[in-house]
Amino acid sequence: MPQNYRRCVSCRKLDHRNSFWRIVRVFPSQQLQLDQGMGRSVYLCPQADCLKLAQKKDRLGRSLRLTVPESFYQVLWLRLQSSNSPEAAASSPAVEPAHSNLSSSEDWLKDRQEQN
Ligand SMILES: [Zn+2]
Repeated sequence: MPQNYRRCVSCRKLDHRNSFWRIVRVFPSQQLQLDQGMGRSVYLCPQADCLKLAQKKDRLGRSLRLTVPESFYQVLWLRLQSSNSPEAAASSPAVEPAHSNLSSSEDWLKDRQEQN
């Protein structure tokens, strides 16, 4: 395996560690943490499919050998939503200006006809 490459626990995809979420069972407190901390860690794609599979099959819990609380998955889902929201806002179509242009040109035509 190339240096700094890791494997997703859900889809087994190989990629640079920076592409994944890192979930750490911190030593010695055994607490779960994201991104930082020393201890046993697993990697997960920041994608709904991989998160869903990890939750359903308990991939995180099996790899880290502990019970992953529901609240931890909630944190991951929230993080996924917040990382996706800027793209969703940018792709919303802007229809309003086109309509107002059309109606103003019709008004202009009507004015001309009334003048004649
Ligand atoms: Zn994955």
